[in-house]
Amino acid sequence: MNIDIQAITKRFGAYTALNSVDLRIGSGELVALLGPSGSGKTTLLRIIAGLETPDGGTVLFGGEDALQRHPRDRQVGFVFQHYALFRHMTVFDNVAFGLQVRPRSQRPAKSVIADRVNELLRLVQLDKLATRYPSQLSGGQRQRVALARALAIEPRVLLLDEPFGALDAKVRKELRRWLRHLHDAMGITSVFVTHDQEEALELADRVVVMSQGRIEQVGTPTEVYRQPATAFVYDFLGDANRIECRVEGGQVRLASQGQPLGGVSGQAGPAVVYVRPHDIELQPAGDDQATGTVRRVYEVGPLVRAEVDYAGTLLEVAVPADDRMPFRAGDRVRVVLRRGLVFPADRPDRPEPM
Ligand code: ATP
Repeated sequence: MNIDIQAITKRFGAYTALNSVDLRIGSGELVALLGPSGSGKTTLLRIIAGLETPDGGTVLFGGEDALQRHPRDRQVGFVFQHYALFRHMTVFDNVAFGLQVRPRSQRPAKSVIADRVNELLRLVQLDKLATRYPSQLSGGQRQRVALARALAIEPRVLLLDEPFGALDAKVRKELRRWLRHLHDAMGITSVFVTHDQEEALELADRVVVMSQGRIEQVGTPTEVYRQPATAFVYDFLGDANRIECRVEGGQVRLASQGQPLGGVSGQAGPAVVYVRPHDIELQPAGDDQATGTVRRVYEVGPLVRAEVDYAGTLLEVAVPADDRMPFRAGDRVRVVLRRGLVFPADRPDRPEPM
């Protein structure tokens, strides 16, 4: 079922947590709401769920006004960061809960509930642990119970708020893969909140990048990473070097010294260029002006990273470890920016590739 969010505004006192947000989520999509703390992700998710009422705007579920419906009647499954399982109930009863509390007229027969719960427990690979209590489970297992519980009511929409936030890196990765698999198998329209770019890029069909109660960009993981609409998106989606510069005669030049960094088609004026660490190349220093000084070289797993002082700007450089960085701290190097995005000061929303 598709979800249409139109001009949603939410205020808490004088503070505007969401500022006229528009978003269309297609049926069966897996969408990530990505942004820093306080950007409004959770508030938007809670409005979709009906746990929060907006001050303005509309939410449509399959073309119907969802705001008029009680949260209970929206058929939304919700998974929180902290499992929020019932401690005094077994895994089986936790999953069955949503069905068991339905009014008698809508409650399935006991055997139907049992079949459904067992099926879900098999799906989340917890069928062997059905009689355990939450305290007897690992964090990853509890979160899988929470998911099974959310799915038990056959939701039309699945909402997940930092579902793996409290888990360690390895379990997180495993559960991500598993959630994607589950989503593809069931095809439920799903929205999850995260502040982890890697999680959003790896898992989602589309990523909604939020900042200060607004949407900065909506796109596929490839689009938001490769064609960021704003400097914020560029910066938030990966390591970024920020270099103050000016555009002059088709060249990007360092603001401080006027060294040419690369060609660009934009108009003359001050600008900021963003460059990813792996888009910088270091070569043995020649006679040209584009030299920097290596400050530090260190290895992080598959990458060798270097910090290079380049005319007063500290650049982060990354190359695959098997290329071996033939430079050491103190070396003079020629800095080549292979690719970057130039944000003109007067038109920051119209970046130009360099
Ligand atoms: P996080 O990743 O930290 O959860 P978020 O992007 O999900 O952040 P929200 O929880 O949506 O952000 O909050 C957005 C803003 O609204 C924050 O500044 C927060 O302090 C404020 N806010 C949220 N709920 C309330 C509330 N009930 N009362 C007052 N302010 C609130």
